[in-house]
Amino acid sequence: MQDWPLTVDKILDHAARWHGDVEVVSRSVEGPIVRTTYGEVHARAKRLSNALKALGIARGDRVATLAWNTARHVETWYGVMGIGAVCHTLNPRLFAEQLCYIVNHAEDRVVFTDLTFLPLLQEHRAKMPSVEHFVVLTDEAHMRPDLFPDALCYETLVAAQPADCAWGGFDENTPAGLCYTSGTTGNPKGVLYSHRSNFLHTLVTLGIDVMGFGARDTVLPVVPMFHANAWGIVFSAPAVGAKLVLPGPKLDGASIHELLEGEAVTFSAAVPTVWQMLLGHLRENALRLSTLKRVVIGGSAVPEAIVRGFRDDHGVTVAHAWGMTEVSPLGTLAAPTARIAALSADEQLDYALTQGRPPIGVELKLLDDDNNRLPHDGATFGRLMVSGPFVVGRYFKGEGGVILDDEGFFETGDVATIDRDGFMRITDRAKDVIKSGGEWISSIEIENLAVGHPKAALCAVIGAAHPKWDERPVLLVKLEPGQKSDPEEFLRFLEGKIARWWMPDDVLFVDDIPLGATGKIDKKLIRERMKDYVLPSGGG
Ligand code: AMP
Repeated sequence: MQDWPLTVDKILDHAARWHGDVEVVSRSVEGPIVRTTYGEVHARAKRLSNALKALGIARGDRVATLAWNTARHVETWYGVMGIGAVCHTLNPRLFAEQLCYIVNHAEDRVVFTDLTFLPLLQEHRAKMPSVEHFVVLTDEAHMRPDLFPDALCYETLVAAQPADCAWGGFDENTPAGLCYTSGTTGNPKGVLYSHRSNFLHTLVTLGIDVMGFGARDTVLPVVPMFHANAWGIVFSAPAVGAKLVLPGPKLDGASIHELLEGEAVTFSAAVPTVWQMLLGHLRENALRLSTLKRVVIGGSAVPEAIVRGFRDDHGVTVAHAWGMTEVSPLGTLAAPTARIAALSADEQLDYALTQGRPPIGVELKLLDDDNNRLPHDGATFGRLMVSGPFVVGRYFKGEGGVILDDEGFFETGDVATIDRDGFMRITDRAKDVIKSGGEWISSIEIENLAVGHPKAALCAVIGAAHPKWDERPVLLVKLEPGQKSDPEEFLRFLEGKIARWWMPDDVLFVDDIPLGATGKIDKKLIRERMKDYVLPSGGG
């Protein structure tokens, strides 16, 4: 058969050729909603490729972006990847020191930035010696020479170049993207995606039981392009010619609702906190969703209230997904099988709340502490291992050494069960699981139940040291504004829902539950804050 390298430039070529008039709509960083098309995005991405070449960027060079989801950011991805350079997405929610570490480690030569981040870059640019140029994703009228005198203007760069530029023509294993993941120990580590791995991830996620959208859909990736590739949507939407709607910097309930309704969005994807904000906004203002059909939720476990809220109040289907930076990111998605689709709505909910089952191209297994395989019985939990053509093989520059086991599986750091149909349920992060008397307690399961209490805004469960049992669970609750409660009320609420020995030894009401750079509860910080905490029994 033909040798047809699987390179991602072909995705935008395809979109421009067959879906050239399909719109790409962005809420711009400057404010207004801006409309373009795949045809335009393609032409401008090619102009940008020429501009990058003029700046001396060649195959393999790293070009970073520090930017929200907008059409200019999409153009930058394709402009960089099309000529075989590597697009390195920076997460602006990281601490400045971490950002500088990552830029230096990646040896980024150019940084494309939104206006939002100019002050941050100006303050720390001396700590990024590899960076030769900063390009601001805006036009001349919005440039800020007062903040950053020698930055280049994106629109000026693009306007100065012709739109013909040869893309591709290299091996499909050429690196295309780079994304760092903040490890639990040590420095952040880079995952270097190849054109081939991105292309295959795109095809797999487009399956009907995975993301499964098409040319009749309007797709809104709220999940940022700097967090695990916006779950691949910047590739999969143009691959099928779906209209693409990009939220820019505004991710609050009102702004997302305006885009969902104004652009007739049918499919969207985001982490649970975004949906919590949206559903809250809809409730408070008695608003409806008239076009949205399906949302993918992942990044952390989806609470039942969100699934019910979407389903019962708005007729929207929730697809719960699990993934990680190291898996490109999609690993599993909870689409029903024929057997499950025949169950009652409430029975189906049990499955909808799992992290889902693996599509073709993702292999999973569970191991115990001695590396023995564990059964797929839906009850036994163990270390979740993953393998496949879009799963990391080693970190960028070999950081962390060998990261695969003898069978080529990557250790996710998650603890999970898997049932006979492949439905996987995360019970914890390996480092968060509470080890009590030699048995494991799932902190996430208690959190998910506790947050179902109507007075709870956010809940976190951590293990506190105990002299007899090693660790015992402690529940932290951030109440909804204006609410009052006491520990007994929450303990009563949990009673009967979890095993007695899982019941928290203490309930603490806190003003704040810290979230990390990707919107997940920062348990490391909570543990740090609670290092002097002693259980009420004195731990005895
Ligand atoms: P990141 O690489 O930042 O996307 O983080 C990946 C980690 O997020 C996974 O290893 C899980 O611990 C967690 N995660 C992702 N999706 C889910 C989910 N649906 N439920 C629970 N945890 C999740």
